[in-house]
Amino acid sequence: ALADGADLFAALKTRFGFSSFRPGQEAIVRDALAGRDLLAIMPTGGGKSLCFQLPAVLQPGITLVISPLIALMQDQVRLLQDNDIPATYINSSLESSEVSARLRGAAQGEYKLLYLAPERLLQSGFFDGVLTRLAGGRGINAFVVDEAHCVSEWGHDFRPEYRQLAALRRRFEHIPLFAFTATATPRVRQDIINQLALHDPAVHVASFNRPNLYYGVRPKNKRTYDELLARAREDSAGIVYCLSRKRVDELALQLQSDGIEALPYHAGLSAEQRRRNQEAFIRDDARVMVATIAFGMGINKPDVRWVVHYDLPRTLESYYQESGRAGRDGDPAECILYFSAADIRTAEFLIQQKVDPDTGAPLEDEQRLARQQLRQVLNYAESTECRRGIQLRYFGEVLPDSCGNCDNCRNPRQQQDRTIEAQQFLSC
Ligand code: ADP
Ligand code: MG
Repeated sequence: ALADGADLFAALKTRFGFSSFRPGQEAIVRDALAGRDLLAIMPTGGGKSLCFQLPAVLQPGITLVISPLIALMQDQVRLLQDNDIPATYINSSLESSEVSARLRGAAQGEYKLLYLAPERLLQSGFFDGVLTRLAGGRGINAFVVDEAHCVSEWGHDFRPEYRQLAALRRRFEHIPLFAFTATATPRVRQDIINQLALHDPAVHVASFNRPNLYYGVRPKNKRTYDELLARAREDSAGIVYCLSRKRVDELALQLQSDGIEALPYHAGLSAEQRRRNQEAFIRDDARVMVATIAFGMGINKPDVRWVVHYDLPRTLESYYQESGRAGRDGDPAECILYFSAADIRTAEFLIQQKVDPDTGAPLEDEQRLARQQLRQVLNYAESTECRRGIQLRYFGEVLPDSCGNCDNCRNPRQQQDRTIEAQQFLSC
C-alpha cells in the first residue's frame, strides 16, 4: 500500500538521484517496506545503505540505524543531508545538551533516520525511555543493524555490544529488524540470524563477484620489492597489507626513501596519526598506504587501483575483504598476493602463540580453526584453478566459467608441484 513500482522509482530518482536500482536492491527495499525481518548480504560498495534509506523516506515514522563506527555514521548522515533527507546521529562525540536536542527533534518527528552506536541504544535509560517513547509516537519503522557481522565471533570484526541487540527483538516484537553485512560466509550468516533473534527473515544474498578485480598470486622472493616499487611508481593509489607493525614501518620507510609517497597505518600509531595518514591517503596526498589489517572497515576510497598482500592473509574471507578495497569505482584494479614457503612457517609460528595467557596451555580450538583457515589460504595461493572461482566457492557461490581475469585463467598451467612446506602442512 505504501509504494507501487512507479512510486519506488520516482523516489529513487527524486530523493537519491539514482536512475536505476543496483542488483538486489529493489527486492530488499520491497521486503523492507513489507515489514519483514531481513538479512541482506551484499559486497562492500554494493549499495546496502539505499536498501534501508529508501524505505525510511517512504514511511511515516523514524528508522533507527545501529552502526559500529562514528566515522561511518557521520559520513552517511552527511550524505543524507546533502540529499535533503532529514537525518542525524547520536554518539559519544556529542555534548549531552546536543544529544538532548537531537532526541527532542526525533520525538517531534524531525528526522527520517537516526544513527546510533549500539552501546547508546542499550543504555537502560535510553532503551526504556527514549525508544519506548519513539515507538509509541509516530512509530519506529524499523531497527537497522548495519555491519551486522560484528555480532558474530566468526566474523572479522566481533563487537560484544552487538550481541545484546537481540534485546531489541525481544522488547519491540512488532518492529522489523534488518541486518546488513558484506560478510559472506554461511556460518556468519546463520550466526547473525541466531544472535539477533531475527524472526523468519527474508534472506537476500547478492553476488560477491567483482568482475573488475584482477586476482593474481606471485612468488615472494628477492625481486618482490622491485615489483612493488614499479607498481607504486605508476602514480595510482594502492594499499600494501603486511602482517606486522614492524614490517609496515620498515616497508613504508623503504618506499619513502625510494621516492614514493607512502604512509604507514597500524594499531601501534596514535589515533591522531592514523587519522592523518588515512586522510592523506583519501585525499591523494599519499598514493600508497602500507598497513596491517587495522586499516579496513569504513575506509571509502573508490579509486584504489591495486591491493598487494606482502604477507599471507589470515583467512580467505579476510583476503576477499582486504583485496576488495580495490576498484570500488568499478574500474579495473589488481589484487596481488605474494607468497613464499617461509610464510607458512611464520603463520604456523603465530598459530602456536595462541596460548592461554595464564597457564600457557595451547588454545586448541583456536589453533585448530586458525590452521583450517591457513589451509584454505594455502590452497588458494597454490592452486592452478580460477582464483575467483575459489574465493566465491568459499562463500557458497558458483561461478559458471573461468573468469578470464585472474592469472590462472589468463595463463593456464599444469598442476604445479606444491612447495614441500605446503605439502607437509596440507597433509597434517
Ligand atoms: P555498501 O554499504 O554496500 O558498502 P553503500 O551503501 O555505501 O555501499 O553504497 C556504495 C555507493 O554506491 C555509494 O556511493 C552510493 O551512493 C552508490 N549507490 C547505491 N545505490 C545506487 C544506485 N541504485 N545507483 C547508483 N549508485 C548507487
Ligand atoms: Mg555500508
